[in-house]
Amino acid sequence: MNEQLKLLVELQEIDSSILSIADKIESLPGQLEQYKAPFKEASNALQKVKAQFDALTKNKKNKELEAEELQEKINKLKSKGKDIKTNKEYEAYLKEIEGFEKEKFKIEDEVLVMMEALEAHTKNSQKEEIKVKNLEEELKHQEKMLEDEKAKFHAEMEMFKTKRKEFVAKIESDVYEQYMNLLKRSGGVAVVQTKNEICFGCNTNIPPQQYNDIKKNENIFNCYYCKRFLYYKEQ
Ligand SMILES: [Zn+2]
Repeated sequence: MNEQLKLLVELQEIDSSILSIADKIESLPGQLEQYKAPFKEASNALQKVKAQFDALTKNKKNKELEAEELQEKINKLKSKGKDIKTNKEYEAYLKEIEGFEKEKFKIEDEVLVMMEALEAHTKNSQKEEIKVKNLEEELKHQEKMLEDEKAKFHAEMEMFKTKRKEFVAKIESDVYEQYMNLLKRSGGVAVVQTKNEICFGCNTNIPPQQYNDIKKNENIFNCYYCKRFLYYKEQ
């Protein structure tokens, strides 16, 4: 095979590897999304449970204060009992106490219901916390794995880049310039094989006479249509 053509074929293999590694590096952050989403979702759920817990606690405290205030009123009334003169006044007085007590019992029942709800919320929040913690650990683990993978890809790429320099040094400068222009213009593929009189770059037919010449791999040919370098691979 023509020495320059052989170098071009090998340079293309190196550049294809570099491009493929660059693609892989670029796709890495996207792979984290599937771990980020459930973590975020669980974190939001936990925040919601905590907010409900706080609101309920505040509510319960207010109710307890109300019950205390009622108790104070009852105590005050009870201390005045001995000053009452008539039966009628006394009846009204007892009714008033009874009314406050009824109100107080009602509030105390509400507080009990709230306490049960708080207990359920605590269990729920503990469950959510464990879930968030597990998902966070999984996310961190995946982040670490992706970082390692990224470092591995970068090392691989450096190796190819070093190898690339060795090949570029041996390629004639005008051939290399043409190669680079083609690489940029033709989606990273500047050198393609031919088979059955067809260019693998653009799938068009190659005239039979030229195809016969290409098959010898003795000279550098370009596709008439896509201008890519052509070579023939022995089957
Ligand atoms: Zn072509």
